[in-house]
Amino acid sequence: MDNRRTFLKKSGLLLTALSLPIPNILFAEGKKKLGVALVGLGGYSTYQLAPALQQTEYCELRGIVTGSPEKIPRWQEKYGIPDANVYNYENMHEISKNDNIDVIYIVLPNSMHAKYSIIAANAGKHVWCEKPMAMNSKECREMITACEKNKVKLAIGYRLQHEKNNRIMMKWAETNPYGPIQNLTAKAGFFSSNPGWRAVEEMGGGAMYDMGVYPLNTSRYSTGREPIAVSARSSTSRPELFRQVDETMEFTLEFPDRITAHCRTSFGENMNNLEISCRDGYYYLQPFQTYSGVKGGTSDGKILSPMGKNQQAVQMDDDALAIINDKPLIAPGEDGLKDIIVLEKIYESAAAGGKRLEIQSL
Ligand code: NAD
Repeated sequence: MDNRRTFLKKSGLLLTALSLPIPNILFAEGKKKLGVALVGLGGYSTYQLAPALQQTEYCELRGIVTGSPEKIPRWQEKYGIPDANVYNYENMHEISKNDNIDVIYIVLPNSMHAKYSIIAANAGKHVWCEKPMAMNSKECREMITACEKNKVKLAIGYRLQHEKNNRIMMKWAETNPYGPIQNLTAKAGFFSSNPGWRAVEEMGGGAMYDMGVYPLNTSRYSTGREPIAVSARSSTSRPELFRQVDETMEFTLEFPDRITAHCRTSFGENMNNLEISCRDGYYYLQPFQTYSGVKGGTSDGKILSPMGKNQQAVQMDDDALAIINDKPLIAPGEDGLKDIIVLEKIYESAAAGGKRLEIQSL
């Protein structure tokens, strides 16, 4: 109980998470939506975020930042983006003069998150940054400081924290409907034959950075606790593709109250499930991490059916409302930082052949 209280006090994660939906008290009828500029027009922006921004109520796509001029006409035409809202990486700081843009969403390779989040914050705009937050905890702290200094909010794109069934996991960590949690298994991975920058160490490649943050973040919110020790092992079955980074990472997180999370992530295996064993039963999500169709069940036959809404639209609306109403974010920079602190220990343990390492209080 004490551990749980300490976690709640320190993390801010669950307290804010459990207060969903953020009441739309201050969003008066007719008030203009927040304008969002996407930075990096790769796969996630193109196929998930931009379409989701057509379904949001409290924010909309108004700008783009890209280093690929050939993409500009297509985006302008498809989404009605005026010339005045089109930027490149060199002039992105000039968004500071653009009142139509309220939020800058960083959707670049992981190694570029910190630099462009800080440029966005210094332009006086709220920052949404994709997971993993950054390459290391130092960069994460620099991002948090830049946002504090500029009095803007920093949200991490942890879409699952906005998804209905994952939110039930958070709630059950508090209410323990099946008795105290005893252990947990979380796995997320997919088979990648063309990993691109995700196989390049200096770009922030590796299964742990990419998919591994899901089992990690989920283990934290599904137990309502912070890990106190970790041990990890990395491996590759395709060294020709994954020379520089981990193709697979297996890690164990020890939590207070003797709860253990067994986690696995990979670019070589399709897997996507979360199972939580408790004293009096169990519950699970399978898949737990996909863009849609997250569903699950319980040992006494309850069905957790899919949310039926666009996850990214819900995420961006939640974050827009937190800005509009000046309320806490569901997944703020501090939450992303905690994952990166643990991720650093995971890599350290893997490099030491699976040595158990304690984690200073998060
Ligand atoms: P992507 O490779 O499809 O796109 C990356 C974009 O960055 C491209 O437009 C590319 O042109 C641009 N870029 C600029 N400089 C670059 C450089 N030096 N090297 C490579 N690309 C460069 O990647 P993505 O899948 O869109 O991922 C972008 C970010 O979004 C990553 O941080 C990733 O973890 C995150 N992401 C999150 C989710 C989620 O579910 N939350 C899903 C996919 C990706």
